[in-house]
Amino acid sequence: MIIVFTQTVTTRQKTFIALLTLLFIWILFKQWLSSSFSVEKNIIITPAPVLRAVAGDITPQDQSSLTLLNRMSEYLRQSYPLKYGLALPQLGIPRRGFVVIIKRKPVIMINPVIEESTGSSQLSFESCLSIPGVEGYVYRNDAITVSYYDQDWNRQTLNAIDIEAYIIQHEYDHLQGILFTDKLVTEEEKNIPTE
Ligand SMILES: [Zn+2]
Repeated sequence: MIIVFTQTVTTRQKTFIALLTLLFIWILFKQWLSSSFSVEKNIIITPAPVLRAVAGDITPQDQSSLTLLNRMSEYLRQSYPLKYGLALPQLGIPRRGFVVIIKRKPVIMINPVIEESTGSSQLSFESCLSIPGVEGYVYRNDAITVSYYDQDWNRQTLNAIDIEAYIIQHEYDHLQGILFTDKLVTEEEKNIPTE
């Protein structure tokens, strides 16, 4: 009886070890899949229609958008030379989320709203990962208040000035299907004072 009992346990242990091994392999495979996904190689270039779509809100159940925002955040954090912002439509996802570099760190903004623009109109020199080889000046407000959900789904409010305000407005435009090239300022326009 004792032998039979021991053999039963051994079989169970074997099954358990086999299952544990399979689980371990599966976790490794998932990790490999996520690390092999290249944000850079998946950036959508103009004139893709998704870059012109008005993006829809992200829901807390939308795990794929949240996962992608985290990957975009990691991509910006590791980028050299530093890239300052990236929006979900640029990865082919028409959802309202982007990542911007604030105080040298990536900040994920979900369903952002520019609540107030309290500064003055200033020239901002810009480029865009979706429009390779183009750069130029656009007018941006230099002091804004933006509210958004962070990745823990808490509502946050941020007052941004200067370049950080410009970056947020550039990424926010992506959610509206607007590109910085729509706003490019010509040499003549640069000499006209604005207010
Ligand atoms: Zn852009």
